[in-house]
This record gives sequence, structure tokens and C-alpha cells, in this order.
Amino acid sequence: MKSYDRLYIGGEWVAPAGTGTIEVVNPTTEEPAGRVPEATAADVDRAVAAAREAFDHGPWPRMTPGERAVVVSKVSEALKADLQAMAELITTEMGSPLGWGTMAQVLAPSMILDYYAGLAGTYPFEDLRQGLMGQVLVRSEPVGVVAAITPWNVPLFLAAAKLGPSLVAGCTVVFKPAPETPLDAFRLAELFEEAGLPPGVLSVVPAGREVGEYLVRHRGVDKVSFTGSTAAGKKIGAICGEQLKRCSLELGGKSAAILLDDVNLAEALPMLLPNAMMNNGEACIAQTRILAPRDRYQEVVDALVEAVSAMRVGDPLDPSVEVGPLVAERQRQRVEGYIRIGQDEGAKIAVGGGRPKGIDKGWFVEPTVFVDVDNAMRIAQEEIFGPVLAVIPYEGDQQAIDIANDSAYGLCGSVWTADPDRGLSVARQVRTGTYMLNSPIPIDFATPFGGFKESGIGREFGPEGLELFLEQKSISLPAGYTPRS
Ligand code: NAD
Repeated sequence: MKSYDRLYIGGEWVAPAGTGTIEVVNPTTEEPAGRVPEATAADVDRAVAAAREAFDHGPWPRMTPGERAVVVSKVSEALKADLQAMAELITTEMGSPLGWGTMAQVLAPSMILDYYAGLAGTYPFEDLRQGLMGQVLVRSEPVGVVAAITPWNVPLFLAAAKLGPSLVAGCTVVFKPAPETPLDAFRLAELFEEAGLPPGVLSVVPAGREVGEYLVRHRGVDKVSFTGSTAAGKKIGAICGEQLKRCSLELGGKSAAILLDDVNLAEALPMLLPNAMMNNGEACIAQTRILAPRDRYQEVVDALVEAVSAMRVGDPLDPSVEVGPLVAERQRQRVEGYIRIGQDEGAKIAVGGGRPKGIDKGWFVEPTVFVDVDNAMRIAQEEIFGPVLAVIPYEGDQQAIDIANDSAYGLCGSVWTADPDRGLSVARQVRTGTYMLNSPIPIDFATPFGGFKESGIGREFGPEGLELFLEQKSISLPAGYTPRS
């Protein structure tokens, strides 16, 4: 059991202002896994004041991007050195299968930090341009104090997606991790401290919604970088709109995987299924709507049922396990609620639907496949966030595209076909921020990722992910003057 009795605020481990604690419970064993102090509004005030002072007068924004990148790279190296322990910690917090989690929950974050450390050396932070009326120096400056708010499903990954680019940009950050997963956030704070991050540049304030909203509203915060549900994103976007505060939102998804009628299922399913059931189904990019051509519908269902029945469910610390428990009891209730809704709506369960036999502890749900699903049903429209797939029939490529687009969300998606030209034509017509064409890779950290429609505003990763934390300033220069560097 990993416990902390202090908060990391302003570069020091300080006593919390309040007396509340957050108890982390292992979703596999239902036993305590750790405890941290719960941050209050007074802690947020201290953290924002420290970030403000570090931004307005401290060394960090005044260092070169290359100097900042050195600190970010050190944290990446430390994560790689700590890979196994960090992956086990996250699995203990939220139940991610270790085999997948080691790569996605820890190695990927270190890759993201490396990418932004590398970009520090190539990004044009100062660009001398010939304007219409003279020379203009276009500077990209850090946006200021950032509030970074993340959910529990891929906690370190999302922390890296925000801290990597914002720190390289020269921002200072108040980071509010989800209350389910504060332990890896505290470990990350230790690694930044060991890497020599100056005081005030990073604070970590674990808390729930109310304190999160207090941080969003805080007048000392210049920019909110939020990842979480669409419901919370709308609220946060509205607050930021009132204050004209910069804001980027990475929200929910209900991605459609389109199997074209020429698909080779034996090749496609081993790439698709891990993306459909990714992270126990608790992934914003999970391919949860499977669109199957009507004349091959039964063949698709049979293949899916066979593959899903063979998935290993159990202790996520066992590297051979593919599906672990859901993060919390309330999440299992939510997923089981949707399983009942699907049946009430007339869809049929082809496999799963209950709790796995022989496991009497932990918040497990069987990997489940619904068939005879109409895209208008709630199980096809709403984000379930559990290992539940809906197989939807279609006729003709155009109808598949229309069904994929008939969603409030637009985060990710995929197409599977023997003909990549035909697949690319489909990919071009689906309104989502990322897409996979016969590819198992949903996100490449060197390229933009984010949502169309209610899946968000803004793009993380790639240079676009750095630009979320930059403000442009144009300085008109006198004739004949050239800046020295
Ligand atoms: P959530 O919105 O309930 O909470 C996310 C975070 O925001 C938590 O830290 C929470 O404490 C905080 N929060 C909630 N309401 C807030 C408010 N009004 N003001 C300030 N902070 C607030 O989401 P969740 O259930 O923890 O996470 C799952 C959701 O996250 C899913 O919808 C999933 O699709 C989404 N998600 C999106 C991405 C992406 O990149 N697009 C990645 C991962 C998860």
C-alpha cells in the first residue's frame, strides 16, 4: 500500500490545508491500495499562486525550449527505468491489464515526453516573416498558467500528453488527477522533482469535481487542458467561454469499425479486437460499434463470438490476461445498466452479458457482444465505457459511412478491407479526428489526435499539441533591422 501524507505544491511536499483523504481501492481485490491527502480550494489557491509566480517571475518560461527539454527527457528516462513498477502501480489503481498497460500506460507516456523534448529543438518558436508592409517577428510564447485535468483510464498517458507539451512550451502547471488514480500522479511529481524542475512549475492537487471546477474558474489560470467526459467538458467549456479562457477539450467517443464486404476476418479481427476491448473497454477510442455487411453478418458475429469467448479474463497483474476489472463498483453498475438497456431495446447478447464465473472478488464484467443492434439504440449512441460491443448490419459502403457518422461523437474509427483504395475513400468520409485503415495503431504521437463534434475541441499530440500551449505574438520590426537571434 502506497501512502502519502503531503501534497506536491510549488515544488515542495507540504501539509494539506484540509483533513480529507482519498482512499484508492484496488478494483481486482477490493482492498485498499493507497491513500493521499485530498486537495481543497485552499490548496488550489496555493498551487495557482506558486504557478503564477513561477510563470511571471521564475526561470522556467525564460529558459530556452532546449533547456526545458532536458528536464522533460530526464523524466522520460526515469519512466523507462521504472517501467514495470509504474505499470503495476497503475494496474493496482484502476485494473488495466498489465500486458497492454506496460506499453500503453507507461512506455507510451515516455515516448510522448521524448517526442516533445525532441520538438523543442525543431519547432519555430521565433519566425522572422516578410509581411505585407515590412518584416515581422512572429513569436510563439507560452500561454501561461495551465490547469491540467485528467480522468483515471489512462492516467499517466494523459498527464504526459499535457505536461510534455505545456512544459516544453514554458508554461507552469497545476495538475488535477482523477481521485481514482492519484498515486501515479504523485510518483510523476517525484520524478519531475528529481529531474530538477524549478519550484512552482508543477503542483499536483488530487480531488473530485468540485475542486476541479474551482481550479477551472480560478482567475490565476490562463488555460484549461481537460480530458474526460463530454458532460464535464461542456460545463468546463461554458465556464472558460464566460471568462474567455483558453481551453482544449478531449472528450468521449463511440467509434465505429467498418468491416467492408471484402474483409479478410482472420487478418482483421486480431488487430481490431484489442482496439475494441482496449483497457477493459475503458478507452475513449475503443472501437465499440462494429459495422458488418448484411450478407456477411452471421460470419462476422460467429468470428467475433469465437474471439471474444477466448479472451482471458482475470487478475490484470497476470500478463496473459486480456480483460481485467472495471475501475470501480459504480462503473460496473453503469456497464451492467447498459447491458439491461440493450436487452430492453431488443438487441440480443451473443456472448457475455454477466459476471465471469469463478471470480468472486473485483468489479468484473464479462466481455460482451450485442447483435441485432440498430444504430438508433442507446447502446449504439452512448458511451458505455466497458467491454461491450454492438454489431450493426449495413448494406453498401455509403450506408456504413452514414451509420458511422450518425453519432454525436467523432473521436476515432477504423475500416477493414482487402482494398486500401476503397478503405481510404471511406476513411476520408468519416467525420472523426483519427482513423485506422487496416492498422492496429489508433494514435501516433507525432500527429494530431482529438475529436470532431462532441468528442472535443483542439488536438493533442504532434506540433498541434504543443500549439495548444502557445500564444502567437507578432512584432513589427523597423526597416533595415535584423534581430540577432
Ligand atoms: P469525468 O469527466 O467524470 O472526469 C474527468 C476528470 O475531470 C476527473 O479528474 C474529474 O474529477 C474532473 N471533473 C469532472 N467534472 C469536472 C468539472 N465540472 N470541473 C472540473 N473538473 C471536473 O470523466 P471520467 O468518467 O473520469 O473519464 C471517462 C471519460 O473520459 C470518458 O468519457 C472518456 O471517453 C473520456 N476520455 C477521453 C479521452 C480523449 O483523449 N478524448 C481520453 C481518455 C478518456
